Amino acid sequence: MFIDVAIPVPLHHPFTYEVPPDLRARVQPGMRVVVPFHRRRMMGIVLGPPSPSPSPRGGEGKQQWKPILDVLDEKPVIAPTLLKLLHWISSYYAAPVGEVCRAALPRSFFRQRTLPRSSRLPAPHTGDAAFHRDRPITLTAAQATAVAAVQQAIDRRTFTPFLLHGVTGSGKTEVYLQAIAHTLAAGRQALLLVPEIGLTPQLLSRVNARFSHQVAIYHSGLTEAQRVLQWQRMVRGEARICVGTRSALFAPFADIGCIVIDEEHDASYKQEESPRYHARDAAIVRAREERAVVLLGTATPALETFHNVRAHKYQYLTLPERATGVAPPRIEVIDLRRPGSNGRGATFLAQPLVTAIAETLEQREQVLLFFNRRGFAPVLLCRDCGHCFRCPNCEVSLTTHRATERLHCHYCEFATDVPRACPQCKAARLHALGAGTERLEQWMRAQFPAARIARFDRDTGSRRAGRETILTQMHRREIDILVGTQMIAKGHDFPDVGLVGIVDADLGLYLPDFRAAERTFQLLTQVAGRTGRAEKPGWVVIQTYTPEHYALRHVQQGGYAAFYDEERRHREALHYPPFGRLINIRITGNTETPVKEYAQILAQSLCRQFMKEEKSVAVLGPAPSPFKKLAGKFRWQLLIKTPSPASVPALTHTALAHAAAHAPRGVKCACDVDPVSLL
Ligand code: ADP
Ligand code: ZN
Repeated sequence: MFIDVAIPVPLHHPFTYEVPPDLRARVQPGMRVVVPFHRRRMMGIVLGPPSPSPSPRGGEGKQQWKPILDVLDEKPVIAPTLLKLLHWISSYYAAPVGEVCRAALPRSFFRQRTLPRSSRLPAPHTGDAAFHRDRPITLTAAQATAVAAVQQAIDRRTFTPFLLHGVTGSGKTEVYLQAIAHTLAAGRQALLLVPEIGLTPQLLSRVNARFSHQVAIYHSGLTEAQRVLQWQRMVRGEARICVGTRSALFAPFADIGCIVIDEEHDASYKQEESPRYHARDAAIVRAREERAVVLLGTATPALETFHNVRAHKYQYLTLPERATGVAPPRIEVIDLRRPGSNGRGATFLAQPLVTAIAETLEQREQVLLFFNRRGFAPVLLCRDCGHCFRCPNCEVSLTTHRATERLHCHYCEFATDVPRACPQCKAARLHALGAGTERLEQWMRAQFPAARIARFDRDTGSRRAGRETILTQMHRREIDILVGTQMIAKGHDFPDVGLVGIVDADLGLYLPDFRAAERTFQLLTQVAGRTGRAEKPGWVVIQTYTPEHYALRHVQQGGYAAFYDEERRHREALHYPPFGRLINIRITGNTETPVKEYAQILAQSLCRQFMKEEKSVAVLGPAPSPFKKLAGKFRWQLLIKTPSPASVPALTHTALAHAAAHAPRGVKCACDVDPVSLL
């Protein structure tokens, strides 16, 4: 008898082994086994039932099949439905099955024969209960309709995806919690996925307040011991809800009734290294296997998701008003091109925004100021010779940071002290060009000397302590003005924010990415939703040079459907998602010429082949990636567009097979299916 085993190495095929007679009765799919691998012993996962003949993919020629050495588990560590999901991820996202298994299990499962029984460990920090006390709530009519629909679907025990489209403050969380409660009452388990654990303390504390000890928390910030503990609590049935970031999708539950994806449009659901899966899309696949309900919640659905609603694949639930009944915020746009608008330059804010801030502070309300670029200034130039300081690994401009007095690369770890003189001409006239949140904060302190001003971005808020300090101070109203990047856009409920100022609405609009308009619409709508959540509607002021751009018009008018209808026309005309699938094939290496040459060879070969076999498939490129060098690697890419999702595995297989046979030494080829970032 033979079995296929996933070994956690970056190779694309499973490995076939023979099962000796004495182990035959013990081995089952989803169990860990010890196998010989290149003169070492490794642990792997059994991928399927033993079969009388070796799998054709499992190796070449007439080699001898090595026997497995041991079976480590009495029960599978991966349940059958989860194993199916891992197979799907491996095939659809062109990811080595061993890497998918490694992403799905705690690391020590591949290192230790016996799993630790670690019940002495304290449970990890799961959010501050002080943020929230659980009180009974009377549902709004829209919430009640949504809850009823979801609960009926849970009772039917059939796969049912829903989009829960609710404006900020409409009370989506209560719908999630009641869906989860209903699932648990039916004796099943629930998943709640969030984009970033650190930015959702309020949601976490509400989940804890309602379900307390039944909650397991799962995210990349856990120590290995905590991860194993959470895993075991779920396996033993002590925890029946798994809350976490994308890897919570792999929770070891056997009977999932409901999967909630909060902020389903969020780009962080896509993993940017292998396995490059999209947790929202993979959740749909897992839910189908489990006959579960999926609840995709957001105020700004991804175009793909709304497209599925229009195609009647997803059911549509809407919460069109805030739960408190307060009107939507008033949105004003300042056209920075207008003479006298005082566009940026020496000043950041046009006069009407300065006045709005002053008025808000007078009313004793808080201000959020959104500027999506961190650091002091994005460019450092020599005034004499024009030399620009760039990252030696990435060739992008280095950002000056005053807090550290260093130049930082925002794409790799590189940092260096701010130089006193130009290395090229030795002149000491260096000029920090442009601005980021640090500079804006400094400017605001000069403008509003009496205000208490703080900054929230990856520099001040990436560690838990810093982040919690700022969030707590905001809640206690010890901060008057909070300057921040997109970190302020996510999920926080600050009841006393009277004004949101958007300093530069155009910043993301012209990135070389077909999703630039969608991202801008989502981000600005989310930021705008941070005001007026208590009893007043709130006020938003947007500064822009392109007020006529449809993304900005629809933010102002608050019309998601109108934005969708306009955006979808652009996508359809160019066959971009959701009207077709993309595969980004990225070629990388330490020197540019072989990367470029191989990218051209691969593109030609794919073109020729698809012309014969797959006429509807288009190959675009190759071209240098927008960031053509990152972390020391030169990067070229080519895009494959295909109308049919079913064709994706064959297309990636063709590309990877070509690379395996023809890519020169040191040149790597990777496929990113349904890419979220094309940069
Ligand atoms: P969303 O996630 O849709 O932005 P939340 O779920 O955070 O909104 O709810 C926003 C606010 O409204 C919260 O303070 C919540 O306690 C409150 N809320 C939710 N549902 C109701 C309700 N039915 N009645 C009164 N307040 C509610
Ligand atoms: Zn760099």
